[in-house]
Amino acid sequence: MQAKESMPSVDALTKMPLEERQKYLDARLRELVAYAYERAPALKERFDRAGVKTDEIRGAEDLERIPVLRKDELIQLQKDNPPFGGYLAVPLETLARIYQSPGPIYDPQRRRGFAMGGGLPPDFGKGQIVINTWSYHITPAGLGIDEALRNIGFTVVPMGTGNTELQVQVMYDLKANGFCGTPSFLKIVIDKAEEMGYDFKKDFNLKFAVVGGEMGGEPLRKMFQEKYGIFCLGGDSYGTADVGTIATGCEQQSGMHVTTDAIVEIVDPGTGKRLGPNEVGEVVVTPFDEVYPLIRFGTGDLSSLLDEPCACGRTTARLPKIMGRAGDAVRVRGMFVHPKQTDEAISGFPEISRYQLVVTRPQHRDEMVLKVELADEAADKEKLKSALDKDFRGICKVRFDRMEFVAKGTIPEGAKGIVDERVY
Ligand SMILES: [Zn+2]
Repeated sequence: MQAKESMPSVDALTKMPLEERQKYLDARLRELVAYAYERAPALKERFDRAGVKTDEIRGAEDLERIPVLRKDELIQLQKDNPPFGGYLAVPLETLARIYQSPGPIYDPQRRRGFAMGGGLPPDFGKGQIVINTWSYHITPAGLGIDEALRNIGFTVVPMGTGNTELQVQVMYDLKANGFCGTPSFLKIVIDKAEEMGYDFKKDFNLKFAVVGGEMGGEPLRKMFQEKYGIFCLGGDSYGTADVGTIATGCEQQSGMHVTTDAIVEIVDPGTGKRLGPNEVGEVVVTPFDEVYPLIRFGTGDLSSLLDEPCACGRTTARLPKIMGRAGDAVRVRGMFVHPKQTDEAISGFPEISRYQLVVTRPQHRDEMVLKVELADEAADKEKLKSALDKDFRGICKVRFDRMEFVAKGTIPEGAKGIVDERVY
């Protein structure tokens, strides 16, 4: 994967005619397949098992001959062959960092960095302070976005998640210009500031926000702009810890443009067959990544591809939005929670006979309520609650908002561990 000198710029790539770009993407795909087959044993096995020779993959359309790699399968591959399940294509000692995402899945730091949303005005960057509230530990978001912000010229305050009062204080003391994180967390910070007696619009210097990582952020973005004069950059952005940034919004706020640093397909989640424009299916990604070539990684997210040109001038296809999960894992406040994790958290508590985690979205914020049936009604509920809160957070990386004890038989036998009742 050395032909970098002849690579067109990202700007040129996103604006070139569809056919020309497809030729470029297909050439990179062929290069990736040949490279990865030689270096990643799990991938070689996958091709061999499917009876596909690397030179038979001429372009994106041939990819459907390779089965989609599911998250569950990757978890198992990593368990059988730790730490990366045979997908690492570079020597382990060359890795700068290793991250973990829910599953657990271990992710080597990739060559592909995080991408900031489009529509960045030219006067943004140098001399401006940004509060980065993405998590800095174990997940790639914090450091990845930190690096992307610094590359543009911003000075970053590595705040990480939580600690709302401290966020308010730092934002106020440093007269921070920008915020980076989820829209719902920015709302929490603003609410906290006002609760502490500040007039957010007058007392703070927050002029812009790069917010994303969750669905349904649009009404909040509108509110930030109209009520507080905070310019929201780009729009939504979408990516996963496994494959990095997949699509970013533009100033038109009419969907997210897919990256030119990967092949992004929409497939039938059952068969893995590619679907046409505007058909809803699972987002499957093949990142051009020489470190960790996850060819045809199934994100489990549902969306569609819009291939009409955008008013912003980019010709890359857009994902209008993410419509939900193809499988059982749900994304809550930017983090995926899988029933396997909730099962694991609950399994340490024999006094619980059944449970169900219900996800809703009141007031534009994801909320998780853990419903619990007790095997032993005499169990100490307060003690159970605090112990479970701790274990749940440790295993699932997010906290539930409330725990409700429900009567025996309320949760049906064989009910799903997580139900997503969010309406956007
Ligand atoms: Zn656009």
